[in-house]
Amino acid sequence: MSNFFSDDTLSLIKDRLPVSEIIRRRIVLKQKGKDFLGLCPFHGEKSPSFTVNDQKGFYHCFGCGVHGDIFKFLTDYEKMSFQEAVEHAAGIAGVTLTPLNPKQQKALAERDILFNLLADTGKLYNSALLSDAGKTYYDYLKTRGINDASIQKFQLGVASKGHLAKFMTAHNIAVDFAEKAGLVARYDTGVKEKFFDRLMFPIFDEKSRIVGFGGRTLNNDVQPKYLNSAENAVFHKGALLYGFHLVDHRDSAAVLVEGYLDVIAMVQSGFKNVFAPMGTAVTQDQANKLLKHFNKIYVCFDGDSAGFKAMNRAAEVFLPLLQPGIELLFVRLPLDQDPHAIITAGNLSAFQQRLNASLGLVEFLMTYESVQNPGVQPAALALQRKHILDRLDTIQDPFLKSLYKDQTYTQFQNKRKTKQPLPMGSLPKTVSIQEVYEIVLLKAFMLCPAMYKDFMDQLHVYPLTPQTQKILNVIENYIFLGEALEFLSIVPYIKLHLPMLNIDHILSDTFHVHAPFLNEPIDETNIRNGIERIVGKFNDSTSLETHIKEAQERFKQSQNQVDWDRLKMLMAQKQHRNDDEL
Ligand SMILES: [Zn+2]
Repeated sequence: MSNFFSDDTLSLIKDRLPVSEIIRRRIVLKQKGKDFLGLCPFHGEKSPSFTVNDQKGFYHCFGCGVHGDIFKFLTDYEKMSFQEAVEHAAGIAGVTLTPLNPKQQKALAERDILFNLLADTGKLYNSALLSDAGKTYYDYLKTRGINDASIQKFQLGVASKGHLAKFMTAHNIAVDFAEKAGLVARYDTGVKEKFFDRLMFPIFDEKSRIVGFGGRTLNNDVQPKYLNSAENAVFHKGALLYGFHLVDHRDSAAVLVEGYLDVIAMVQSGFKNVFAPMGTAVTQDQANKLLKHFNKIYVCFDGDSAGFKAMNRAAEVFLPLLQPGIELLFVRLPLDQDPHAIITAGNLSAFQQRLNASLGLVEFLMTYESVQNPGVQPAALALQRKHILDRLDTIQDPFLKSLYKDQTYTQFQNKRKTKQPLPMGSLPKTVSIQEVYEIVLLKAFMLCPAMYKDFMDQLHVYPLTPQTQKILNVIENYIFLGEALEFLSIVPYIKLHLPMLNIDHILSDTFHVHAPFLNEPIDETNIRNGIERIVGKFNDSTSLETHIKEAQERFKQSQNQVDWDRLKMLMAQKQHRNDDEL
């Protein structure tokens, strides 16, 4: 259908012509923030739920779900053909349409052949997975917690040796095209299939067309573990994100994970807009694509040092592209865990907790620097600060840059101040019962870190404040590291990994009045009983009601994001419990 125009021409029209410009010729639109709002022309309604976003270049109706760009509006609403729509829009945008020359036409026709071949191959691999030949691979997916619906949603498959060759012969497919599509390779000895004996993950473009494959071997002796299609006329690795064909524009947040299975496991458990780069390095094209569609981006790579470094490189790519209104967050997972492993182990709420306790940009950079150049002496701190400021310098938006820098100055100043002993009674605000419980709990786990293992699962399902969650995550990492489990070494470890968090009030004995079992001399049995009492209170549903009331009250007063997030979390928890009871 789009054979008459090159993608460049279509992009140029879209760049020059805001969607609202076309739509407001037909419908009254009112500006609301970045969006325009109006009555949906596709379904009868009295209150407006039709939104138009020029920045993202699309319209969306929350009532009936219609969604599209300028061309889609013109074809669907004005009943134009695609060709007419492009000509009409080009006229308004002042773009001259030059007919494609024969060479361009040939290239486009050839591209369509490749798309068809790749689509057929995807179906071939997929049906093989569900046949006897694919049983090993199918069973493997089952053991990894991937269900049938996900297998179909992502069209997973298996490439058996000789299968594609047979298919090509049967359907008279020219080796030339298969080679251009990256499915076979020519050697001196003959033509060979590129993928065989591998679990196949088709990679789709935004229009849900298969453009390439990732193949995973289940044989530990075979290298590489993952083999991707090579660059070709339709497969541009650096511009693609795995999972992007399922993009849901109604949500403004996206999660960037490392692997294909992470994407599938998260989508399977209800997350939307989860994507993976092709390989761990995020490219500028991929970052731009995310920024065009989303204003909150979580980077959530594996909980090993490679993942940590890859997150840091991702930050580097995103920094120059950041704009006001964009929130870039970093999620740290427990050591050697990835989203897929956490979710398939049944710890969905543990994973959600990690997302809720994600680090902001400066917070992440400080954590990274404090690991790269550890130390709390002036020399180390100054070096950390210099590195962070240098990196923030790459932000193009001047106002954003100066705000992030200010935040860095303040954080390092606070860091110096927290070296001073905390004056008595200097806790600024009123402390809620919930916070007292959490502080007591943290102190107890710092005194007896090994005990945390026994309470971890119970605490994962409970909505704790993000601060507490962050500290518990660090304690969890610490335990997994197999460090000496004692107060003297865990406190510096927490301070090192959460340089921005002041934990002095937890270390002081201000709160011991509420929990005498924390007093010297330490008795492990007393502490365990104390922890059990508090966790028991958390799990008591009447106390959940109390917490919700308290959180509502707090939010009413403060109107801030932290209190709102906590309230939302508690309400979700209540919903979750109600669902369980039904
Ligand atoms: Zn509608």
